[in-house]
Amino acid sequence: MGRVSARLEDLPIRDDLRGMTQYGAPQAPLPVALNVNENTHPVPQEVADDILDAVALALRDVNRYPDREFTSLREAFADYLGHGLTRDQIWAGNGSNEVLQHVLQAFGGPGRTAFGFAPTYSMYPLLTRGTGAAWIGGTRGHDFTTTPDDAASQVADAAPDVVFLCAPNNPTGTPMRLDVIEAVYDAAPGIVIVDEAYVEFAPRDERSALTLLPGRERLIVSRTMSKAFAFAGARVGYLAADPGVIDALRLVRLPYHLSALTQAAATAALGHAATMLGMVDEIIVQRERISATVAALGYQPYESWANFVLFGGVADPAATWRALYDRGVLIRDIGIPGHLRVTAGTEAETTAFLDALASIDSAS
Ligand code: PMP
Repeated sequence: MGRVSARLEDLPIRDDLRGMTQYGAPQAPLPVALNVNENTHPVPQEVADDILDAVALALRDVNRYPDREFTSLREAFADYLGHGLTRDQIWAGNGSNEVLQHVLQAFGGPGRTAFGFAPTYSMYPLLTRGTGAAWIGGTRGHDFTTTPDDAASQVADAAPDVVFLCAPNNPTGTPMRLDVIEAVYDAAPGIVIVDEAYVEFAPRDERSALTLLPGRERLIVSRTMSKAFAFAGARVGYLAADPGVIDALRLVRLPYHLSALTQAAATAALGHAATMLGMVDEIIVQRERISATVAALGYQPYESWANFVLFGGVADPAATWRALYDRGVLIRDIGIPGHLRVTAGTEAETTAFLDALASIDSAS
């Protein structure tokens, strides 16, 4: 019998999934991978040792289902976040993508809408449509910034069930001021989720949207261990919100969705938060170096509060992407005409990228 391979369009797939394309950041084994905003510094050895011990201990009980409420982990997240948060205000999942999916399952879904200011994180529309809701793309200013008045009026017009505010924004790095978040919250009829995946790379004296949580029961702030914590492969994301919101998420999660091994690894890593975050300052130095150097090469970098830089002025992004690829450097063509995005790597990786870019004459 030959292998049967059906074409997607021939399957009885949901009508609303027809024609959709999957998330597609290329995964290529190149020496310098600066394309998906990972933290390219490995987990420090002493932390890795501690995590291994914790995982080994958890393995002894792996014949049993894990703590469905991941209580120790929620306590560890509450401690890490501070701001007087307690574990009943914390939720977590296998990456913040899953956490966002839970939010959409509970507050979006068929017949509902979710909204975000484009260009923004490419998974928001995919997660929205995957959970049966419709996506509405709002607009940003020419430099990708948002203002309170414009943002609020777009949200009031769209009246979405869920609003995504990416702060700072991926793929542009743009900061989002708290007055924009407050204005959007006041204008939104439904849930407002502030995605702070990259917030640890923002200036230290800037306030997090966590400070806006008291008195705002429709506000959610999501975070991830994938970026600043150098934990992308472990798949751990989390959020803080009103305890009632957390209860709503319990309705849609799969039972025991966080494995005992994930819970043990993440809790152990959080016990070393300061060490895990030790590379953040070094990454910020590389980010600023990228901005200064690409500007000197004739490109236009945007202000970034994240671990990556978006730069414009690229005559042919696909050709430049390919030329860098051929030189062993993987960055991201995020589909904005004339632009490319690069993650700030280690000093050596960043040098490799900047040298490769300098060797290609592609500024427009
Ligand atoms: N939010 C933003 C803005 C992101 O850029 C990413 C990943 N690139 C995520 C959420 C999801 O990250 P993870 O699932 O690894 O936590």
